[in-house]
Amino acid sequence: MTTNQNNLTTSWGAPVGDNQNSMTAGSRGPTLIQDVHLLEKLAHFNRERVPERVVHAKGAGAHGYFEVTNDVSTYTKANFLSEVGKRTPLFVRFSTVAGENGSADSVRDPRGFAVKFYTEEGNYDLVGNNTPVFFIRDAIKFPDFIHTQKRHPVTHLKNPDAVWDFWSLSPESLHQVTILMSDRGIPATYRHMHGFGSHTFKWVNAEGEGVWIKYHFKTEQGIKNLTEEVGTKIAGENPDYHTQDLFEAIEKGDFPAWKLYVQIMPLEDADTYHFDPFDVTKVWSQKDYPLIEVGRMVLNRNPENYFAEVEQATFSPGTLVPGIEPSPDKMLQGRLFAYADAHRYRVGANHNSLPINRPKAEVHNYQRDGQMRFDNNGGGSVYYEPNSFGGPAESPENKTTAYPVSGAADSSAYDQNDHYTQAGDLYRLLSEEERTRLVSNIVGSMKQVTKDDIKLRQIQHFYQADPEYGKRVAEGLNLSVPQEV
Ligand code: NDP
Repeated sequence: MTTNQNNLTTSWGAPVGDNQNSMTAGSRGPTLIQDVHLLEKLAHFNRERVPERVVHAKGAGAHGYFEVTNDVSTYTKANFLSEVGKRTPLFVRFSTVAGENGSADSVRDPRGFAVKFYTEEGNYDLVGNNTPVFFIRDAIKFPDFIHTQKRHPVTHLKNPDAVWDFWSLSPESLHQVTILMSDRGIPATYRHMHGFGSHTFKWVNAEGEGVWIKYHFKTEQGIKNLTEEVGTKIAGENPDYHTQDLFEAIEKGDFPAWKLYVQIMPLEDADTYHFDPFDVTKVWSQKDYPLIEVGRMVLNRNPENYFAEVEQATFSPGTLVPGIEPSPDKMLQGRLFAYADAHRYRVGANHNSLPINRPKAEVHNYQRDGQMRFDNNGGGSVYYEPNSFGGPAESPENKTTAYPVSGAADSSAYDQNDHYTQAGDLYRLLSEEERTRLVSNIVGSMKQVTKDDIKLRQIQHFYQADPEYGKRVAEGLNLSVPQEV
């Protein structure tokens, strides 16, 4: 007899005779090892989790589309941006950064803003945050930085000493710390925040001419934030507040949308701009490089299965398509390796074959075998290159553009160290009420630091950004106001 639709089966498809009682010797046991259905059920359950992401573990995702609204083909040959009205399907994952998979959504933390465009020329991942800058600008500091955001090795508690010690010793973090501690440090929902590519990328047109660009997704829902008090209350009452909000908004047809803009810098400006435009702790002033509209992203479909889509989605800044290239940004260069490597470890070497990651474009290459290779593995097709059997071959017109470099191979520091002007510009852009909340959020966090020398070192940085900023934090902490430096 064949199994019918309603038959419970094992993973090898055989009907299960009893799913309520394990097989025992006599009604009181012990249990028999020959109950392979029981063994398989317990063993599979033990393996239900893949390692959570070291960062960005807690997230929510949605499907949608991107539609081009402005002709940018003079700047990039990227096919999905080639004409006004062109639509490309996409998948987005929003996330917090430091917390574990079950942690609360409404905490003060940057938010991940990762977009996978399923273009006709392969997938393009834009893996950014809801902030235009980052805490550090060299990937070599990333593991240390993240250790300070995670738990103490003895107490297993978050550790404000480590957080502020690292920031105070890494003043390039000041701009991002100011954004994080400002109202925008706790978005009201994932729908009410902007997204940024953060790094500089290169766009290349059909003539092979390049420009440097930065991406800005502007929320059409408007910016809305939670105060520290409300965020803390919600974290206790509903730790999945943002996850629930996104799912329910889409479920009821209230589809969130973002306008995508780019700032465009001619390649030659990079040598003469008043700071290193590849430094991810800096923004390019919009007065120098105004926003140019590109298109609109709409999220209109919830995942059908959280694990298969949101948890197994693998984004990498190196997942690029012709017309979009990396910049020398040292943080981006590290991420080009680290993201794909994390997915090989977390999901497996064939992660790009999973349904959520599989390109809509056809894949032709010579990768074979590996764990969980579940398609036909290339069948009998030619499995090496070069070959004389008509296997897929490179297309030289799709080479990335040449980029001249010079200088000694060395462990070099950035040659510019103004960590203060832009953090100060942001402080000065805030209203009095926003400044009061910024200082209160900082004081609330720094009050927990046990060493005054850490606090004083950090206050000096705030002071250098803007003397008023430093004085107000010092006063809030009952510490001496710094002298002119
Ligand atoms: P502009 O006045 O041209 O741009 C100011 C930018 O600041 C706008 O993008 C605005 O975004 C954003 N902004 C406004 N209020 C806040 C806030 N409370 N928290 C965070 N961002 C806010 O000036 P500049 O381009 O010369 O930049 C001045 C400062 O603005 C920078 O030092 C930087 O800290 C901040 N900023 C700059 C961005 C850029 O790409 N140039 C991007 C984001 C921030 P919105 O329209 O959504 O309010």
